[in-house]
Amino acid sequence: MNALDYDGPRVPRRTAMACEFCRARKLKCDGGRPSCANCEKKKFPCNYVPV
Ligand SMILES: [Zn+2]
Ligand SMILES: [Zn+2]
Repeated sequence: MNALDYDGPRVPRRTAMACEFCRARKLKCDGGRPSCANCEKKKFPCNYVPV
């Protein structure tokens, strides 16, 4: 059993949310943690703000 692979009925943090950086630039955020691909590339501190 691998909890990480389990895609249960309710996965709280499963993206659907863009980080501040991507939102500001209207980029497609991959929701990566702790840093999404765009922030990683720019060495930008990835920041997710709950709606
Ligand atoms: Zn992002
Ligand atoms: Zn980011």
